[in-house]
Amino acid sequence: MKDLKEIVRKNIYSLKPYSSARNEFKGEASIFIDANENPYDTPYNRYPDPLQLQVKEKISALKGVSVENIFLGVGSDEPIDLLYRIFCEPQKDNVVALEPTYGMYAVCADINNVEYRKVSLKEDYQFSADELLAATDKNTKIIWLCSPNNPTGNALDAVEIEKVLKNFSGIVAVDEAYIDFSSQPSFLKVLKKYPNMVVLQTFSKAWGSAGVRLGMAFASEDIIKIFNKVKYPYNVNVLTQRYAIKLLDNFSQVEKKVKAILKNREKLEKQLAKIKCIKEVYPTDANFILVKTIDSDAIYKYLIEKGIVARNRNGITLCDNCLRITVGTAEENKQVIVALKNFSK
Ligand SMILES: *Cc1c(COP(=O)(O)O)cnc(C)c1O
Repeated sequence: MKDLKEIVRKNIYSLKPYSSARNEFKGEASIFIDANENPYDTPYNRYPDPLQLQVKEKISALKGVSVENIFLGVGSDEPIDLLYRIFCEPQKDNVVALEPTYGMYAVCADINNVEYRKVSLKEDYQFSADELLAATDKNTKIIWLCSPNNPTGNALDAVEIEKVLKNFSGIVAVDEAYIDFSSQPSFLKVLKKYPNMVVLQTFSKAWGSAGVRLGMAFASEDIIKIFNKVKYPYNVNVLTQRYAIKLLDNFSQVEKKVKAILKNREKLEKQLAKIKCIKEVYPTDANFILVKTIDSDAIYKYLIEKGIVARNRNGITLCDNCLRITVGTAEENKQVIVALKNFSK
């Protein structure tokens, strides 16, 4: 990896961050008159902990990663956007990503006026590190790897991911939004080995908390420090922090639901494979299943009429006539299967 100083934008490297009241005084006191807060309506009258230490300590214990290596944001969307703002000089730098993948990497590139280079996955939805690296140049700052990948559902080949980590001198962002549903291990276990890696995880999928908006980024202490410098001072609100603590204290409940989803997924995969209008059920490491159909536009519309909303991925690279189906409850899956069985062209 290159020195951080060489790959961080100059204005960000030298940025002196806003120092909030809660930054300047940390600790217990009986009277707080430092932040112009309203004295009534505890606890929501108070600004949240800007560094969310209580939440991070619990995540640290769960994941075996030090607090200094954790960043929390408003969903994964926040660290995705921050990576552009920290590393990519608009109109000069570029990023490289596989195609198809999660749409936010491209949208954030557009918002930040950064060139987005796409390298197509192979027919089996895997990729070659060499091909990906060949698309980089001296201005490439970030490589995006989503594993398990959205919308294809498969985990990317870990050997190829490591090859990218070893051979790219910029930032490699490994988006593990679906890792809790995967048979593959998380790259968190090699966080120390790769100082250029940023692992993204989220409370939105396995944790059942998409509405709460909480995302995690794991990286070297130096990278996390820059994240903290650039983020809005109070990015994660009090309600979200309290809710996250509750979830983390009841982690066995999260695990139970993940198990149930995995069981439902297995059953759904088998049933989908028997349906006439479905030509192929792709292997999945996530909480959704990509299927190739005989006519995804027609089936999508037909399902809507039945009150069922799937994601139509027709027209996306390597996803012609594909629908992306999220694994629901056993009852929901049953209804989806009945509806699909009754589809006739
Ligand atoms: C759903 C998803 C996320 C989660 O985004 P949040 O902002 O945390 O809700 C991140 N990455 C991928 C690939 C996803 O599919």
